[in-house]
Amino acid sequence: MQPRNLERASSELVKVCHLSYERGYICGTEGNFSLRLDDSTLLTTPAGTCKGLLSPSDLVLTNLDGIALDLPQNKGKRPSTELKMHLIAYRLRADVMAVAHAHPTTAVAFSVADKSLNRCVLPEAILTLGHIATAPYATPSTDEVPESIAAHVQHTDTILLSHHGALTFGGDIFQAFYRLETLEHHAKTLLVAHMLGGEKTLSRSQVESLFAVCNIYGMTPPRNSAELIETGTK
Ligand SMILES: [Zn+2]
Repeated sequence: MQPRNLERASSELVKVCHLSYERGYICGTEGNFSLRLDDSTLLTTPAGTCKGLLSPSDLVLTNLDGIALDLPQNKGKRPSTELKMHLIAYRLRADVMAVAHAHPTTAVAFSVADKSLNRCVLPEAILTLGHIATAPYATPSTDEVPESIAAHVQHTDTILLSHHGALTFGGDIFQAFYRLETLEHHAKTLLVAHMLGGEKTLSRSQVESLFAVCNIYGMTPPRNSAELIETGTK
């Protein structure tokens, strides 16, 4: 792959951190974000820092095992212990160039309430998210977390971590962020629809038609579109 320009990649990663914090997808020192710089190097957020206040010079360069490289700019910094989740996506999927992990309130609340987000209600959410996988609860920062998502990584770009957060993948850091943003927007829409008496989902044929014409919007059907169609009304 073509190596990414460090300065530009750092600026994009920090921008997404700031947007995620300002939009309330993370609070305090929560969340972690990363991108591939080249075949063997990742750029990621440091542990224990507020992502809303991050600067490009705060970022950490690691290898694909998540070990901080022995470089002057890495001095005194370490990557998040949750980087393990990102590593499994980079190992299993060559197309994943960036990973976002945050704790968006409404989407996570659906997992806390054991309610499914796989409801076909918004065309943009259907095309952006596809079928949302839910990984069982695992103790944060332990090896249980990457183990809990391993079965889902090949089949989706959006994983809800039960009672914890969301993990999204992208061809770049903005695509990973847009999936995070769309996930929370979709969850809020479902919540409001529930307050108004309950959502009426699109039919299977309406979802199939959407996938058939999505190239008009410059999009391709998500990798698990068949699974999602199954959730539509017959
Ligand atoms: Zn987390």
